Amino acid sequence: MAGSESLEDILKAIRAYFVSEQFNEYADAAAMQMVTHLFRDSGRTWRQAARENSKGRIIYEALQKEMQGPVGSQVRLLTKRNAEYIKSMPLHLAQEVNKKVLEESLKGTRASDIAEMIRKDFPHMTWVKANLIARTETSKTSTALTEARSEYIGAAWYVWNSSEDQRVRESHANMDGVLVRWSDPPSPEALVGERNYGTYPAGGTFNCRCFPSVLLDLDDVQWPARVFYGGSVQRMTRKQFERIM
Ligand SMILES: [Zn+2]
Repeated sequence: MAGSESLEDILKAIRAYFVSEQFNEYADAAAMQMVTHLFRDSGRTWRQAARENSKGRIIYEALQKEMQGPVGSQVRLLTKRNAEYIKSMPLHLAQEVNKKVLEESLKGTRASDIAEMIRKDFPHMTWVKANLIARTETSKTSTALTEARSEYIGAAWYVWNSSEDQRVRESHANMDGVLVRWSDPPSPEALVGERNYGTYPAGGTFNCRCFPSVLLDLDDVQWPARVFYGGSVQRMTRKQFERIM
């Protein structure tokens, strides 16, 4: 960028980038990368489970076919949604760039130097935002994939795992190890007498790092187990659970 260009020209060029085909392509590619990464990651876990499990062959065959089935369409749907999130970033980013330009010009930095800074910082700033969105969306996306896979193989229940570190909220720590039916998500907050934020599966809410592990074999559970059933968490023996599952 030549030194003669004004700040206004620089900002104009940046705004033009946000609406360009190039930026749209970037957003699509970044979203695809987020989802396929998750997909491969959880796919590995599932293949491992398949090897170690009595239903292994069925699960393996399901995995082979899944990209043509509901899981495949779920992946495509999530990719599209994430791309939309990324495309909604520009306004926010533009404000950050504006702020930087203002700060630097108040310090007396030359326009050409500011432009250089922005050009250097810009791809980075975009990635920072993309990563932020990825973090917030990661567990939701991952949970949705697990649910789609469970549905596909007819697994109705999962175990709620909290991430077991200090940042876990009390309401989610209370869900750790609880058996939950996909079709009947709990309100973890309401269960411990906190403000109700509605019902959702493990990993299905803002900043939640809990994750579901699909219940494939009753031998994997330590009985009696805690089960979310009929609106509360109940302790059940294997026999009691077999009657309701
Ligand atoms: Zn959680």
